[in-house]
Amino acid sequence: MIPTAGVVLNLDQIVQGCPATELLYLREMDLQAGRAKVTRVVPDKSNHFYLVLDKSIFHPKGGGQPSDTGKLSGENFQVNVKKVIDHGGVLVYWVKVLTGTPVLGEVRCEVDFENRRLFSRRHSAAHLLDHCLSTITKGAVQTTDSWLGEDSYVGYKGKLPDPELLKDVESMARQMISNGAQITIKFLNRNEADELKNAPNFERLPHLSELRIVTITGCGPIPCGGTHVSDISLIGELSLQKSLQVDDNGYRLYFAIS
Ligand SMILES: [Zn+2]
Repeated sequence: MIPTAGVVLNLDQIVQGCPATELLYLREMDLQAGRAKVTRVVPDKSNHFYLVLDKSIFHPKGGGQPSDTGKLSGENFQVNVKKVIDHGGVLVYWVKVLTGTPVLGEVRCEVDFENRRLFSRRHSAAHLLDHCLSTITKGAVQTTDSWLGEDSYVGYKGKLPDPELLKDVESMARQMISNGAQITIKFLNRNEADELKNAPNFERLPHLSELRIVTITGCGPIPCGGTHVSDISLIGELSLQKSLQVDDNGYRLYFAIS
């Protein structure tokens, strides 16, 4: 049922009865365009709508990675995708109308890939920092959170390492980027996931039956739902911008890539 304009629903109501969205970007991170079916249309205020699609080449906001943006084009309408929200496995697109009115049915999807490429480079850089930090400090590291939008950072448990050690972390990461190393993706049953015990985010993993494992060749495997470059040489020039002890439990390393 499509509610009348002016009645704004909450996300629970919007996704009610929708099956989980098929997340195409998990297996194919290079999909810039594709087709999908709009399965729900809910009007929002001032020319905006909430849409649910059956499958998604768009990465939602989550896991520290900002939402993809882009365009959806139906037969008689076109919308800008402003934000994609993961609501319990159903992706909700918040869109702004460019032409026409969104309706159920087939659409062409197009991701703003300049943004996506940047998020992927930053996400791979964050995994590389986990590895270098663990190597230089000679111990397992535990991440607390991360943000891959502007002012990117990775949060870690514990006390901030000495500045000299952080310099070494930066040098090691830069050297590895200049050497290059392939990044591979595989899927693993959680019961087989023993090899992940040392992963920097192991304690924060959701209880899924299948885990997606991202591995930089030569580094430990990390369970992850984000997008990455295919080789760390594509990250570009990485620098640590600043470091900050947030509280007794953890610190942040802010980084930039250019
Ligand atoms: Zn990740």
